[in-house]
Amino acid sequence: MNKFNKIAIIGIGLIGSSIALKAREINIAGEIALYDIDPEVREIARELKLGRVYENFAELLRGADLVILCVPCGAMEAVSQQIAPFLKAGTILTDVGSVKGEIVKILTANAPENVFVIPGHPIAGTEQSGPRAGFAELFDGRWCIITPINQSEEYLAALAKLSDFWTSLGSKIELMDPARHDLVLAMTSHIPHLIAFCIVNTAEDTETLSESEVVKYSAGGFRDFTRIAASDPTMWRDVFLLNKDAVLDILGRFSEDLTALRRAIRWDDGDVLFDVITRARRMRKEVIDAGQDSEKPNFGR
Ligand code: NAP
Repeated sequence: MNKFNKIAIIGIGLIGSSIALKAREINIAGEIALYDIDPEVREIARELKLGRVYENFAELLRGADLVILCVPCGAMEAVSQQIAPFLKAGTILTDVGSVKGEIVKILTANAPENVFVIPGHPIAGTEQSGPRAGFAELFDGRWCIITPINQSEEYLAALAKLSDFWTSLGSKIELMDPARHDLVLAMTSHIPHLIAFCIVNTAEDTETLSESEVVKYSAGGFRDFTRIAASDPTMWRDVFLLNKDAVLDILGRFSEDLTALRRAIRWDDGDVLFDVITRARRMRKEVIDAGQDSEKPNFGR
C-alpha cells in the first residue's frame, strides 16, 4: 500500500467523511486533514474524530500530497480557484464529482502546472448526505472511475498512486474518457434520478389522488422511487446543469421510448408491451449477476 504524508479532504459530507473513515481505518496517511465551508459540519467532523479539522486552506494544504475535492459539483470552480495558491508542487489533485467533462475543464484551468490533476468519481453512494451519513465500507466492491488527462511518465506514476489509494479503500478501478463517463452516468444514474424526482412530484400534484393514498399503497413500486428522490437537491441540481448535453441526449431517447409505450397501450398492442417488459427483466438479472444490486447500502450514483 502506497502511503501519503497528508491527505486533505475538502467537503466533509457523505463522500468526504466516508473517505476519511476508511483512510483512518487502514492508516493510509500520516495525517488526514479536513475542511468544510460549514462551521457546524467542521464541529461534527471533530466530534466524529474523522481527522484533523482546519479553519483555512493555507494550513489545511500545507504539506498535503493528496487533495480530494468532495464538494458539490457546482462548488468545484470556486474551491479550485481558492486552493490554487496553496498547492505544493507534485501534489495529486483529484475530486469525486458525479460529472467529469466540465470538472476536468475547471480543474485544469485553475490548478498550477506543477500539480497532477487526476479527476475521479467513485460510483458509490446513498440518498443520505452530511458527515454523519458516512461509513467506511461505502466503497467496498464499487467501481471508481478515473479520467486521466495526461500520458507523461510522471503523470502515469501519480495515476498509479491514486488508483492504489482507491483500491485500498475497497474500490475497483476503471479508466475512462471524461465524455464517455458523462454519457454512461447520464444513462445509469442521472436520468434514473431525474425520473424519480419527476414521478414523485407527479404523484404530489395529481389532484385526483390524496397524499395519504399514495403513501399508504406505496409498496406497489412508488416506494423505490421515493428512496432515490430523497437525494440531495444541491448535488442533483449541479449534476443536471453540468452534464446538460449527455442528460438531454439520453432524455430525448427515453421520451421516444415512452411515446412508443403509450402508443402500445392505446392500441392494445400486448406483444410490444410483453417484449419491452421481458427485455427489462433480463437487464435486472444482469445487474444482480454483476453484484450491482441496490439491496446493498452503498448503491452506485
Ligand atoms: P454532501 O454530503 O452534501 O457534502 C458536501 C459538503 O461540501 C457539504 O458539507 C457542503 O457544505 C460542503 N461544501 C459546499 N461548498 C463548499 C466549499 N466551497 N468549500 C468547502 N466545503 C463545501 O455531498 P456528498 O454526497 O458527499 O457529495 C459530494 C460530491 O460527491 C459531489 O460532487 C457529488 O457529485 C459526488 N458524489 C456523490 C455521491 C452520492 O451518492 N452522494 C456519489 C458519488 C459522488 P454545505 O452543506 O454547507 O453546502
